[in-house]
Amino acid sequence: MNTHPLSRLLGTTLICLGLATPAWADEVVVYSARNEQLIKPMFDAYTKETGVTIKFITDKEGALLQRLKAEGENTPADMLITVDAGNLWEASREGLLKPVQSKVLTGNIPAHLRDPGNQWFGLSVRARTVFFNTQKVKPADLSTYEDLGSPKWKDRLCLRTSKKVYNQSLVAMLIAEHGEAKAEQIVKSWVANLATDPFPDDTKMLEAIAAGQCDVGIANTYYFGRLMEKKPNLPLGIFWPNQKGSGVHVNVSGAGITKQAKHEKEAIRLLEWLSSDKAQNLFADVNMEYPVNLVVKTDPVVAAWGQFKQNPINVAKAGELQAAAVKLMDRAGYK
Ligand code: FE
Repeated sequence: MNTHPLSRLLGTTLICLGLATPAWADEVVVYSARNEQLIKPMFDAYTKETGVTIKFITDKEGALLQRLKAEGENTPADMLITVDAGNLWEASREGLLKPVQSKVLTGNIPAHLRDPGNQWFGLSVRARTVFFNTQKVKPADLSTYEDLGSPKWKDRLCLRTSKKVYNQSLVAMLIAEHGEAKAEQIVKSWVANLATDPFPDDTKMLEAIAAGQCDVGIANTYYFGRLMEKKPNLPLGIFWPNQKGSGVHVNVSGAGITKQAKHEKEAIRLLEWLSSDKAQNLFADVNMEYPVNLVVKTDPVVAAWGQFKQNPINVAKAGELQAAAVKLMDRAGYK
């Protein structure tokens, strides 16, 4: 509630003029693991359209969850925006989010990209797919994630560290699909093919492939997009694996309404807007991701990478099986 005397006065004036509730008095507080550069243009557009002010802070995923937990009932946050279904699932498991029943959200967002319990909703899709050195590998040499463990890739594979949630989610999805024993075999076969120690981030790994330190690897699409924007001549190609089978591993960045939301209605309205055709390009294109809303066109640069079949397993599995995935990778010697 805005209790500033001037606001009250202005509010009264507007009501006297017969206008609806002054939209400008509303606000939504957002904690975002997506950085300011990615979210501010979108929030500015929302404020322009609705008059609702959005206050936000940005921080790392883990730090925001800790902060929400520490603040408890006193948190000013109405909405949490974060990356990876593993993190969204964790926020929900910690009791930090509340379910939202919204036909707009369930209509705009495919079922496999949101929490079956409606506590969080994917807003953009990132594919974790295969990349290769175009001077050393032909697309016909590639087929599946599983095949990256075959002997022909001995000393030719690069991976990012298993500490990153993206790989924990990827392995969780392998467990969901194959069961633990088979998933462990697959991960072990990858480790046996590594050309070098795992990399701290996707970009360094892609640069190693381009430099010929290894020939193939797994990364999120937007890192490839960013790198190729800067260095368009790198000998890097993108490949969509498992197209005859389960499809490409996808993950989301998304959002949920906090359990303690003080502006719940406004926050739900913002979340619905973020899933709408008006906002989806603002959300996805700035980070070279895919819109979740299927009526929305993908950014042309991203669309040029080609169409692919997504793995339809619910991304919530990435959270449910995350602990098992971490243990499995440890057993498999994946550092
Ligand atoms: Fe990332």
